[in-house]
Amino acid sequence: MTRPIQAFVDQNALQNNLAEVKSRMLASKIWSVVKANGYGHGLSRIFEGLRGSDGFAVLELNEALTLRELGWRGPILLLEGVFDARELEECSRHQLWHTVHNETQIDWLSRHKTQQGHRIFLKMNSGMNRLGFKPHSFKSAWTRLNALPQVDEISLMTHFSDADVPNGTQTAIKTFMQYSQDLSGEVSLSNSAATLMPSKPPVLSAPSEDWARVGISLYGGSVNPSLFPASHWNLEPVMTLQSQVIATQALKAGEHVGYGSIFQAPRDMLIGIVACGYADGYPRNVASGAPVLVHGTRTQTVGRVSMDMMCVDLEQLRDQGIESGVGSEVTLWGRAKNGTVLSIDEVAMSAQTISYELMCGLATRVPVSTLER
Ligand SMILES: *Cc1c(COP(=O)(O)O)cnc(C)c1O
Repeated sequence: MTRPIQAFVDQNALQNNLAEVKSRMLASKIWSVVKANGYGHGLSRIFEGLRGSDGFAVLELNEALTLRELGWRGPILLLEGVFDARELEECSRHQLWHTVHNETQIDWLSRHKTQQGHRIFLKMNSGMNRLGFKPHSFKSAWTRLNALPQVDEISLMTHFSDADVPNGTQTAIKTFMQYSQDLSGEVSLSNSAATLMPSKPPVLSAPSEDWARVGISLYGGSVNPSLFPASHWNLEPVMTLQSQVIATQALKAGEHVGYGSIFQAPRDMLIGIVACGYADGYPRNVASGAPVLVHGTRTQTVGRVSMDMMCVDLEQLRDQGIESGVGSEVTLWGRAKNGTVLSIDEVAMSAQTISYELMCGLATRVPVSTLER
């Protein structure tokens, strides 16, 4: 038998989440953000479930080409645009829309030989201060682009730094509206958080938006787990990480388990050794006591997570009359066979991180399969 760890990508959950997000967003169209190999799920594995998207937004050219190979003929957006002038040839050939966030990218475009009019998403830096034109130079960038024969349509975009807190987008929206008001073009502002977090209705909350750019919520992650669980928006977990107990240890009160002996048994207790470690993408820094499901029932991790193994408390289950041992199903995050869900956000919070990092960090040694319920 092979090592029992495996991951599942739930197609029904993807479809459900796409529908839930669409029903809540103000924008008329959705870019499903599938950068980083579909947030670690695998582009080919999330493609079917997200076919109902209006377009796919990616980071790298090779992701765009993979989507074309998978048969996607609709819009694809390169979120950071091209990284060198030669990538523009592929944009022309495969009709890839691309962000323009600096003058260098406009220079490349102005020298690019093509018959194909390019679709541009011109990015304003509305306060994040990573990419984009400063508000006061946004119009001149637009004017310069608009004069290029290589350019077909220009859309206007920005990205929020603080969308995960209620009303966190107000200042950036105000800036965006002020400096884009007399420019024509479709508008794209919102990530998942801006789409789902409550904001006070009046004036500044919502300029009409054409394209939302939604990532994490499609995969079932909450946009702010300390305020709302993903289930608040009826989002379902897409990724399940599952393994099994491969050994048990009966600890006497006072005995330890694992490296550093950081866990000491407070009583005689049964623990399970699980085939999952940080080399599989499970965070090493979870505090002892992170939630985990055994046979779909909650218990907790004990001791330190090591490269290939971690330990779970089986005594708590025995207290509830649930027998477990070698071969027992362990759900590290996602949906157990009995339907119980352990949110990836809970595990992420136990490790002082966010669901994005856990999803993207799923190790290549973990076999992944798609799942339909
Ligand atoms: C990643 C990304 C998104 C999606 O963000 P989520 O928080 O996952 O919804 C949207 N826009 C840009 C520019 C991004 O880089």
